[in-house]
Amino acid sequence: MRRGFNCRCCGHCCLQLIDAYNGCVSDADLHRWQLLGRTDLLARIRTLDLGPGNQLHTAWHEPETGEDVERCPWLLERIDRRGCLCAIEEIKPDHCRAYPEYPEHAAATGCRGYVVAREKPEILPPR
Ligand code: SF4
Ligand code: SF4
Repeated sequence: MRRGFNCRCCGHCCLQLIDAYNGCVSDADLHRWQLLGRTDLLARIRTLDLGPGNQLHTAWHEPETGEDVERCPWLLERIDRRGCLCAIEEIKPDHCRAYPEYPEHAAATGCRGYVVAREKPEILPPR
């Protein structure tokens, strides 16, 4: 948990930041999903061979057509409509895990996790 940060589960980053759902995933992400046998995730990755030892893994794609998705396929709305959940929270891509990297990054990209944490922590009901 980052000091002073409290994710609001608002889904802004997942919905509005194109890098979140049309970005690259890491070798470690790919390896993790391979070990877990998550063929559903792997089917949505395209690997570009850029030369010896240099590969780029892009996410997320439609498995049937290979086209870029327009919305992250793992983003779910909470039943009580009080925010969003990530269906692959425990194994989500490293770049999702690392966001936002610091308060200024959050502020520049529309995340209020640091601001709200400083203002007044909101107690959400258990998921
Ligand atoms: S990281 Fe920030 S923008 Fe993303 S869901 Fe949490 S509060 Fe919202
Ligand atoms: S994988 Fe999860 S955290 Fe990342 S963009 Fe999709 S819903 Fe958001």
